[in-house]
Amino acid sequence: MSELAGLIRPDLQGRTPYGAPQLAVPVALNTNESSYDVPPEVVDAISAAVTAEAAHLNRYPDREFVRLRERLAAYVHRTTGCPVSAEQVWAGNGSNEVLQHVVQAFGGPGRVALGFTPSYSMHPIISEGIGTTWVDGLRGRDPGRFDVDADLAVEQVQRHDPDVVFLCSPNNPTGTSLDLSVVERVYEAAPHSVVVVDEAYAEFARPGTPSAVSLLPGRPRLVVTRTMSKAFAFAGVRLGYLAADTEFTDLMRLVRLPYHLSSVTQAIACAALDHADLMLATVEAVKQTRDELVSGCMALGLVPVPSDANFVLVGGFADERASWQALLDRGVLVRDVGIRHHLRITAGTPAENAAVLDALRVVTEGES
Ligand code: PMP
Repeated sequence: MSELAGLIRPDLQGRTPYGAPQLAVPVALNTNESSYDVPPEVVDAISAAVTAEAAHLNRYPDREFVRLRERLAAYVHRTTGCPVSAEQVWAGNGSNEVLQHVVQAFGGPGRVALGFTPSYSMHPIISEGIGTTWVDGLRGRDPGRFDVDADLAVEQVQRHDPDVVFLCSPNNPTGTSLDLSVVERVYEAAPHSVVVVDEAYAEFARPGTPSAVSLLPGRPRLVVTRTMSKAFAFAGVRLGYLAADTEFTDLMRLVRLPYHLSSVTQAIACAALDHADLMLATVEAVKQTRDELVSGCMALGLVPVPSDANFVLVGGFADERASWQALLDRGVLVRDVGIRHHLRITAGTPAENAAVLDALRVVTEGES
């Protein structure tokens, strides 16, 4: 062990960091980004917003990011149908930072966070990174299904009495949405917990999938996190946010670093939110590609999990690691999420979809 490795906090020794490969490949479908470029009209608006900001970069940004919060609140209202005020919104550099703020405030040493695996790999990494004990809960008793079993979730919440509970809908990496009754039941079963519903992929959900934002009134311990990285096609900007009770958002100010959202980030995000329709214009196309990916995989004899997100978890690979490598050898990068016989594939453009299905055809023929 090196001298430094011996100095690091004992609970971090031997841990692996988040590490989705960033490889230069023709078809990158491994991190659930949008494959569509920012539209030219929005590029112009962003450039103008940055230019307007440039001369004032000698000053710190608005620490309370008021203009941005107003726009995010309007966007949440518009996309969920639920009124949310600017004071109910909090934001950070990606929803990862927002999730970290939540755990910094409510988790930490001597405290417990519970999630239902398989789910987003950063929930445990963020929790443990700040000394919170992580409990890997079970989603259900049938390993072939990925819905959260409400009775089992309630039982685990009661057993572990966590300080923070993570739910994720649509869930990464399975694509499955949660019935809101599961959120209600977990909230009621966990009177000492903050309940996080990670809705990073909410805009891709099939019609009739309500947002947990509708459950916020009267539930001060509930928080819904979202991001501009996925449907909004803005991953490079790093802007995530949450909606919660105003008292909750106020507490976030205790743990954020001063001026955590740069003037440039705020200006760019506001410019893009002013063009929300253009930024969201590809969501329907992505949903269609996702559905075609599902049917294409079924036609190949694979077993895709029904998805409400911009990716599909596909089962039926005899050896998922070998298949992952064989796809990469054909220029297609997908994600091995550590679930046996499964790979996760982001829905990209129709051309990327055709490429991944072609590569899958060759790979699955090779397996059989
Ligand atoms: N939540 C989930 C479920 C995700 O899949 C991701 C990104 N992969 C995030 C949060 C974080 O996204 P970002 O930090 O880009 O907002």
